[in-house]
Amino acid sequence: MTRPIRATIDLAALRHNFGVARRHAGHAKLWAVVKANAYGHGLERAVAALTDLTDGFALIELERAVQLRAAGLKLPILMLEGFYSADELPLFIEHRLTPVLHRIDQLQTLQDARWPATLPVYLKLNTGMHRLGFNAAGLVAARAALAGKVDDITLMTHFADADGLRGVDWQLERFALMTADMDLPCSLANSAALLRFPDMKNDWARPGIMLYGGSPFPQLISAAELDLQPVMTLQSEIIAVQTLAAGDSVGYGCTFTADRPMKIGVVACGYADGYPRHAPTGTPVLVNGLRTRTLGRVSMDKLCVDLTELPAKVGAGGTATMWGKGLPADEVASAAGTISYELFCALAARVPVGEIN
Ligand SMILES: *Cc1c(COP(=O)(O)O)cnc(C)c1O
Repeated sequence: MTRPIRATIDLAALRHNFGVARRHAGHAKLWAVVKANAYGHGLERAVAALTDLTDGFALIELERAVQLRAAGLKLPILMLEGFYSADELPLFIEHRLTPVLHRIDQLQTLQDARWPATLPVYLKLNTGMHRLGFNAAGLVAARAALAGKVDDITLMTHFADADGLRGVDWQLERFALMTADMDLPCSLANSAALLRFPDMKNDWARPGIMLYGGSPFPQLISAAELDLQPVMTLQSEIIAVQTLAAGDSVGYGCTFTADRPMKIGVVACGYADGYPRHAPTGTPVLVNGLRTRTLGRVSMDKLCVDLTELPAKVGAGGTATMWGKGLPADEVASAAGTISYELFCALAARVPVGEIN
């Protein structure tokens, strides 16, 4: 007797999508990006599914990285935000975690912690994103501080608009200028850059969203056109059916009012499950595999769907698919004014998750 909502993670699809990343990467090695609990898909299961395929895993959360080591993971682990304070460094050293360094004072911290010269580090350059990273002078200072103390340095930057109009060339030019006299490996591409600009020099790519079946630029090219398969499918059931007369409204705020007789279904899925509350009337949803739309405001535990045009037998007990197989998360995200990343990451802890192979 459990609430009927569930998320199903398709591990074969995850592995398939990794294969797509591998094809686009050419000779580059791949960090499978598994931050934020593998974008909501479950870190342990994503890592187990990809361990024999990937060259390493990249994430943010130190305690999760330590768990992966405790579970026996041997592959390299890249910590995308590095360390935040000196007291984390013993764990980085013990568990051979590769930090992304982006601030000059972190180099002194490394030295104080007796960082072993053989352990790799990444240096992050700010080439236009203006979040983390060294500028040209900072990079020179960082290289000087590391000279003779760390042997294995990779240069990294992150693109601001690889999925958009500006593309990556303007940042690649800055990267080339800043690193002109350095013959070091580099790590540049996220999913968008890997799919759109596979030709850049790039020793380690960092695909995230594409592994989970989201298109990094759904307005340009759909996930299906990129040969990406949905990994997470979120489903629940219709737990009640209501008939509306013209003039009846649905849900909080009465934001949807019927202009004719209608039949609606009430689905056991709301914003406390991770469905976006800002998804407006008209957001696509599947009922028993048939496409229809949401009606009215999403509430904490329920949302309403239009059954008026569906076969009369569709009713209580019918299966609602919020996104996944048959309904790309990108379409739902776009209707709700967000991106698939946010839908996946927001999947709530109360939703039971199963997996298929
Ligand atoms: C999250 C992240 C990625 C992956 O980005 P996608 O758009 O999901 O492919 C790559 N690099 C860094 C630094 C990140 O933080």
